[in-house]
Amino acid sequence: MPELPEVETIVRDLRPKVLGRRFVNATFYWPRLIQNLTEDEFCQRISEQEVMRLERRGKYIIFHLPGEKLVMHLMMSGSLRLQPADSDPEKYLSAHFLLDDDLRLSFCDSRKLGRIWLVDDDALVTNGMGPEPLLEDFTLEYFIEQLRGRKAPVKPLLLDQSTVAGLGNIYVDETLYAAGIRPSRIAGELTQDEIARIWQAIKDVLTRGIANRGTSLRDYRDGFGNPGDNQTALQVFRREGQPCYSCGTTIIRVVLRGRSTFFCSQCQK
Ligand SMILES: [Zn+2]
Repeated sequence: MPELPEVETIVRDLRPKVLGRRFVNATFYWPRLIQNLTEDEFCQRISEQEVMRLERRGKYIIFHLPGEKLVMHLMMSGSLRLQPADSDPEKYLSAHFLLDDDLRLSFCDSRKLGRIWLVDDDALVTNGMGPEPLLEDFTLEYFIEQLRGRKAPVKPLLLDQSTVAGLGNIYVDETLYAAGIRPSRIAGELTQDEIARIWQAIKDVLTRGIANRGTSLRDYRDGFGNPGDNQTALQVFRREGQPCYSCGTTIIRVVLRGRSTFFCSQCQK
């Protein structure tokens, strides 16, 4: 569930607090969180490593350490919170990391689908991902080329991280509403003008999501454990049966390629 705006919010919250801090140790309550090392290897390697940089790539959180990268993916229900080391333990704790300065970074995850890696090069994990939608390399020309001739509906192509990084079910439905395009439209049959509207809507919807500090429908919490505000800005997602804010038509829910999909049949063509 955490998508680009949620992960970006967490990274922005944590960055000023963790830069220059050192990992003291790690404790795992759900060792299968670690994808590429044993628990012992992980704990040995992370100890005493300093956080040089903290970045987001798509939905991944990347801690740059002197010799390697600690990469995290929150998947459906994960959250990452920073608290004083003596705070009460969190619910659904998968792991916690003690940092010097008496800080504790908790990876909480009710569904236990989250993943972490400790690797020399984060590209080993993020390999094949498309451009960042809010950076300059996500050009309209690139986006047109990605959709050209494609026989799939546009929605699954936007969910595909190799097309563009960071979108998930919430922000794709909101993007297609903002662009006035039905999620089931065949991508290769969209006009250049329609593709340009989707391209702009991706940026607008994600920018708004970040400004609102993410969407909290269930599990998502920011870097300090607080909910975001973007759920109040949603136009279609999880609004089936309610009137469209623009035209009053009832918002419809359908299942498209296995994903719940929400749209307005009047505003989206
Ligand atoms: Zn409408």
